[in-house]
Amino acid sequence: MIPYGRQSVSEQDIAQVVEVLRSDFLTQGPVVSAFEQAVAQYCGSGHAVAVNSGTSALHIACLALGLGEGDWLWTSPISFVASSNCALYCGAQVDFVDIDVATGNMDIDLLAEKLEKAASEGRLPKIIVPVHFAGQPCDMDRLDQLRQRWGFRVIEDACHASGAAFQNTPVGRGQYSDVTVFSFHPVKITTSGEGGMAICNDASLATKMRQLASHGITRDSSLFQSRDQGAWFYEQQHLGFNYRMSDIHAALGLSQWARVDEFVANRNRLACIYDQAFANSPVCPLVQRAGRKNSYHLYVIKLRETCSQSRKAVFEKLRLAGIGVNVHYIPIHMQPYYQRLGFETMHFLNAESFYQQAITLPLYATLSDDQQQQVIEQVLKIVCPA
Ligand SMILES: *Cc1c(COP(=O)(O)O)cnc(C)c1O
Repeated sequence: MIPYGRQSVSEQDIAQVVEVLRSDFLTQGPVVSAFEQAVAQYCGSGHAVAVNSGTSALHIACLALGLGEGDWLWTSPISFVASSNCALYCGAQVDFVDIDVATGNMDIDLLAEKLEKAASEGRLPKIIVPVHFAGQPCDMDRLDQLRQRWGFRVIEDACHASGAAFQNTPVGRGQYSDVTVFSFHPVKITTSGEGGMAICNDASLATKMRQLASHGITRDSSLFQSRDQGAWFYEQQHLGFNYRMSDIHAALGLSQWARVDEFVANRNRLACIYDQAFANSPVCPLVQRAGRKNSYHLYVIKLRETCSQSRKAVFEKLRLAGIGVNVHYIPIHMQPYYQRLGFETMHFLNAESFYQQAITLPLYATLSDDQQQQVIEQVLKIVCPA
C-alpha cells in the first residue's frame, strides 16, 4: 500500500538522535532551545516554545491569551478535532465558520457576516483559529482587517503549513496573528516523532506559554512573586501541564527542520505533476489562490459533479488497488461529541459538501515518480471508465 503520507528520516537524523542518547541530557537540555531558535529564525519571529504536540501548543496558546469560561473560539469545521478541542479544554465555547469549497479554508466573507451578527448579539469571539488547510495559507490580509475592526485574537493552526508563506512572508512570522502553531507528527511536513511548537513575537506571551508547558512553574528569579529563597527556589504561578518536548525528540525535529525547504519543494513538484495529470478529468485539485506558497501537507482532489461514481466507490477501489487514500476531514461538528454539544448536521453546508467530494492522495517528500504514476493511473482508470 502506498500511504497518503509518511516521514522521510535520513541517516543524519538518526545520528543526531543517537548523539543525544549518549549525552548528559535526554530532556531539558540544549537541543530543545536550539530547535526553538532554528524555527523562530526561519519564520523571522521573536519566540518559539517547543512542546510535545501541536495539540498542546494550541492549548497553551489559548490559555496564554486568556481564553476561559464564557469566551468563544471560532475555527474551521474542515480540520482535525484538535483545532476546536483546545477551546473546550479551557472551558470556553466553540463555534465554526463555514469554508470556501474551492480551497477548504475558512471563508472570510462568511466570517465577516458572522462577526457582524455576533457583535449585534454581544457574542464576539475572543479567539479565531484559521487553519491553513492542506498547506495553503488562509487569506490573512482580510482576516487581519477583521481582527483590527473587532479586536479578536488570532492563533494560526499551521500544523499543515511548516515552510508555507503568505505574500512572501513565512507562515509563523506573526504579522497577522498572536500565535502560530506547528505540529511535528510524522505525517506533517517535518517530524520530531511527536511534537509541536507555538511561535509568537510577544515576549510575555512566550514566557506564559513556556510556564504553562511546564506545570506553571518558573525558575526565573526576575519573575518571582515572592522573595527568592536560594538556588533551589522555583514558583508555581499558574496551573500548568507537563507538555515539554524531550531533547531526543528535539534532535530529530532540529535535524528535519534543516530540510523543510527541500521537503516543501519536493511536495510542490509532485503536486504540480498531479495537477497536470488531472486537468480535464472528472476529478479536480483544490484551487490555489494568488500570493501563497503552499507547503502541500496534503494533496486533496474533489470529484466533479460529472464523475459517475460516488466518493465511497472511488475510495474503496483505490484502496483495493493499493493506493492508501484518506479523507480530510470529517467535519468536526459532525462528530458525535460535538453533536452532543448541540451542533447539528446540515449546519455548515459547504464543509459537508466538501467532505462528500474529497479524497486525499498519497503525497510526501520521498514518494517516487513510479509510485506517483501508479496513483495517477489508478485514479484515472477508476474515474474515467472506458
Ligand atoms: C496534526 C494537526 C493538529 C494536531 O497536531 P498533533 O501534533 O498531532 O497534536 C492540529 N491541527 C491540525 C490542522 C492538524 O493537522
